[in-house]
Amino acid sequence: MIPVEEALEIVLREARALPGEDVGLGEALGRVLAEDVASDVDLPPFDRVAMDGYALRAADVATAPVALDVIGEVRAGQWPDLTVGPGQAARIMTGAALPPGADAVQQVEKTQPLDEFRVTVLAAVASGANVAPCGSEVRAGDIVLARGRVIDPSAIAVLASAGKARVRVARRPVVALLVTGDEIVEVAVRPGPGQIRNTNGPAVAAQARLAGAEVRLLGVAPDRQDAIVEALRSGLAADVLVVSGGVSAGDYDLVEPALLDLGATFLFTRVAIKPGAPLVFGTCGETLVFGLPGNPVSAQVTFDLFVRPALLKMQGARILGRPRVEVELLGAVKNRAGRRSHVPARVRFEGGRLVARPVRSMGSGDLAAHARANALVVIEADRVQAAAGESAEALLLGNFLEDDGAPL
Ligand code: AMP
Ligand code: MG
Repeated sequence: MIPVEEALEIVLREARALPGEDVGLGEALGRVLAEDVASDVDLPPFDRVAMDGYALRAADVATAPVALDVIGEVRAGQWPDLTVGPGQAARIMTGAALPPGADAVQQVEKTQPLDEFRVTVLAAVASGANVAPCGSEVRAGDIVLARGRVIDPSAIAVLASAGKARVRVARRPVVALLVTGDEIVEVAVRPGPGQIRNTNGPAVAAQARLAGAEVRLLGVAPDRQDAIVEALRSGLAADVLVVSGGVSAGDYDLVEPALLDLGATFLFTRVAIKPGAPLVFGTCGETLVFGLPGNPVSAQVTFDLFVRPALLKMQGARILGRPRVEVELLGAVKNRAGRRSHVPARVRFEGGRLVARPVRSMGSGDLAAHARANALVVIEADRVQAAAGESAEALLLGNFLEDDGAPL
């Protein structure tokens, strides 16, 4: 049994960078940027007006109210064909370019038209007010996004501003996924006596997709070594092979021998983690192989802690782990396992600090409890419990920001 950090180190050491490919901006969401992106333009590209109002010379309105001559209008998308002289103003719209001669804009609410050609400016403005100067946000040639960034909507906006209709990203890792277990039936089936629906297949596939992978489903194999070997064979063409179940110490836990038959080398087979001690990792040729415990929560947690970082590293992502925060426990948590424990909890910002309410859970099979959690409170292997009021470390899960405001 090896510590969590050591296991993760081994996994990340084996996870090698995938080549890049070019995709259209519309397909870039969730991919990992494989190039540094420089802007090809200044941002703003001209002295951009931020308010509807009047372009003027700030010095002219220092003693407002002051009446100015209105010499014309500048609209967004129009290059100004007028120059604002002393005692003059031009009507101007948000997004328009500041005309030469003007150095500020007074918003329309602080003006009063006298007639078509005269306006009273009711308040003074500072030079530069309501104008974003050309290049003040980004200079042409500046790096606006660095490789390793996971492309989210705000990154899409930056890519769009830099003219990147196509962008270089890491190829998606291909994950082949096999579910094992005589008791497992497909989702659409009503389970018979002793049977259980396949929850790990869909859940782990979803986790892999959110981590940028393309998933190939290898189906459900019964607990027979020859059947598992057969089902796994086609998975060896994938970058990562994930097997659910069949890695505990039971007589019908045949994933390890099946993988050995296929020539896999194991780098570890047990990790000091709860949930999920039986966690197998190795390689088979170029393919990384993970054997996840079958218990639904164990499968999801070990995926999140080991497989997800591997997939992200293969894509060159800069950040591989979930955010860690310090929380104050609102309830006690126990850890009798002698392993590093991950307790499902709901974390919320409250009273100036992050607080965590442990979710009532029946254990590593309780997938409903896991779905109520938005974080995992971490209790180290050498601690048997943590009391309410103590501070603890928590890993924020992917759903952390989806807070329905319900009481913890
Ligand atoms: P195993 O790791 O194969 O010993 O399975 C541990 C527990 O997880 C057993 O109760 C299994 O029935 C359950 N389990 C295994 N695979 C799945 C799966 N794909 N979906 C739901 N439960 C599973
Ligand atoms: Mg099993």
